[in-house]
Amino acid sequence: MKSRYIKTEGIILTSVNFGEGHKIIKILTDSLGKIETSAFGVRKTKSRFGSKLEPFTHTRLMLYRKSEDGLFTINDAEAISHNSAIREDFQKYVVGNAVIEPVVRFVETGNKDTELFNLVVDSLNILNDISNNKTLYLLSIYDLKFLAVMGYRQQTALCMRCGNPLSGDVFYMDSHFGFPICESCKSVTAKKVAPSAVKFVDWATGATLTDAGRVTMSEETLTTIRELIEYLYIAIYNRGLESWKQLLNQGGK
Ligand SMILES: [Zn+2]
Repeated sequence: MKSRYIKTEGIILTSVNFGEGHKIIKILTDSLGKIETSAFGVRKTKSRFGSKLEPFTHTRLMLYRKSEDGLFTINDAEAISHNSAIREDFQKYVVGNAVIEPVVRFVETGNKDTELFNLVVDSLNILNDISNNKTLYLLSIYDLKFLAVMGYRQQTALCMRCGNPLSGDVFYMDSHFGFPICESCKSVTAKKVAPSAVKFVDWATGATLTDAGRVTMSEETLTTIRELIEYLYIAIYNRGLESWKQLLNQGGK
């Protein structure tokens, strides 16, 4: 029989109060994938967990469960990185939510995925330290890598609709087929994508997250890239993300 105690690392995704001194906490772990856990005694002033179970925190966890298919409870937690700048700075908080939301919404529970785990850990650690004017570049690299890990690696060679090679710098996007779409397949609502945004998509697939610190681009290109990423999520998952509304409000558009 497997041990009832499980040691793992995790990123706290969401934490919701549930009754007296009780929280339901969603965690992306390195060894169990995404799980839902229960924690008791977390709302007392001198909680034994402190801020270790706040969203964005990277922690070492000791979990317990009574039976093979029972709910995990958190027995002990020790922070590896608090990532407190993400909770204290509004710009970083909004971007941090945009990192976490697709994991909460689109990742299946209980599937171990080391690549995804490392992507989320690294993105939040870098977000915590990066300067505010680079956070949306980081998020854009993250989004393209997240989709790639989920099996939707972006390419800019072939039309998503007809499969024909794309030539020149005429690229379109829409919320049905996503990106890229050729001239003859474009719908009435399709938008033309500027070559600078296409170049970013190409570059980002091979870039590392820390490269975000070196990126510079016009406000217009950034707007197109964010829009393109929204279209990709909608084309793939049939819905958008709540965190985008915050991003738009906060971006002063
Ligand atoms: Zn086409």
